Amino acid sequence: MSVFDSAMEQLDRAAKLINLEPNILEILRSPERTVTISIPVKLADGTVKVFQGYRVQYNSSRGPYKGGIRFHEATDLDEVKALSFWMALKCAVVDIPLGGGKGGVTINPKEYSKDEIEEVARGWARGMVDVIGPDKDIPAPDVNTTPEIMAWIADEYSKLVGKNTPAVITGKPVEVGGSLGRDTATAQGGFYVLEELKNIIELDPESSTVVIQGFGNAGYNFAKLAHHAGYKVVAVSDSGGGIYDENGLDPKKVFEHKKENGSVIGFPGAKIVTNKEILEIPCGVLVPSALENQITGKNAGNIKAEVILELANGPVTPEADEILFKNHVHVVPDILANAGGVTVSYFEWLQNREGDKWSKEKVWEKLEPIMRDSFKSIWEKHKELDTDLRRAAFALALERISTAIKAKGLV
Ligand code: NAD
Repeated sequence: MSVFDSAMEQLDRAAKLINLEPNILEILRSPERTVTISIPVKLADGTVKVFQGYRVQYNSSRGPYKGGIRFHEATDLDEVKALSFWMALKCAVVDIPLGGGKGGVTINPKEYSKDEIEEVARGWARGMVDVIGPDKDIPAPDVNTTPEIMAWIADEYSKLVGKNTPAVITGKPVEVGGSLGRDTATAQGGFYVLEELKNIIELDPESSTVVIQGFGNAGYNFAKLAHHAGYKVVAVSDSGGGIYDENGLDPKKVFEHKKENGSVIGFPGAKIVTNKEILEIPCGVLVPSALENQITGKNAGNIKAEVILELANGPVTPEADEILFKNHVHVVPDILANAGGVTVSYFEWLQNREGDKWSKEKVWEKLEPIMRDSFKSIWEKHKELDTDLRRAAFALALERISTAIKAKGLV
């Protein structure tokens, strides 16, 4: 099943549960616009390489499109379509006035220099200049795209339109209009949600162990928060593989090791595990924070976690969802668990538009109730509908999107 097929399967399941109007379902099965561009870049050795770039604008019934840009060798239109669909639902789950979009470039950034990556980013901005904009579509970071890359895109766009336009993209460095807190927002939002769930299922932080697949923006920042709160982070991984220490790892030390050696592998005193094995380690909270389709029908039966907190988008397939539900694993879906990122991106966009600058305290003060209340609404919905948390989150989001589509008179 492709990633977009999985997303549509999730849509169909939730639509059936809430008897979604067929006309709305028909609208939500296709993106409003897909854009594919070629980005020619002159490499350091003088040869020209053409990269494929994408932007998918899935649904704008609730506001301008919003969603990150991914730089990855496996990125293709199918993946970007799925990610943009989830963005539309995610913005509806946290009830911010934005729609869903996503972008990407098929590239392995490790194979290119910083200057070459900058050219790819600026080429993406030039190719997309007519479709993005502060009132149209506002990109952000995702896998392998950094605040620096966001600054290059904002700069290129500003030059093209002839005026400084920081609100065209979020996740920028603070010095050029980024919001305080945006770098840790995804992890922080997920942590608030976990705290709410923990109150209900009585997960004890002192004895709870955490396993994290993916040690980047989402995974590393979550590891720090969990460690600080008294959870034992027993295993983490990156694209090179994983490490396990039953006595617990210090995320900051592991990060230093990764910075020096390029991977978490080789961290002193820890056993090496594969990215497949790491998912099956018995633990309180499993936090997929890398890519899609990691927990499937094949390995879902081997998962020994009490909770799966999806900081990654789409890590659990629909087939796996069924198995995990039967095995009483609480799966906190991506469109809720990682929505802290887009929520603080929304705050950044508001600050840019108003020429304002919020303190970190204000960012957390505004984020915390949104995340906690969204969790509570979804928890109530899952009880009301007698279903899993993913279908409940989809149900809530679909109701909100349907209302907007109807209000605009489309259906
Ligand atoms: P990142 O590039 O900062 O980090 C990705 C991490 O995953 C890296 O440590 C990388 O080595 C690792 N990785 C890559 N392939 C892997 C594999 N096959 N197995 C294990 N690890 C692998 O990216 P990020 O921003 O942290 O994004 C991670 C996930 O979180 C993605 O699914 C993304 O869509 C989602 N997400 C991110 C944000 C955000 O604000 N950054 C917001 C919402 C959702």
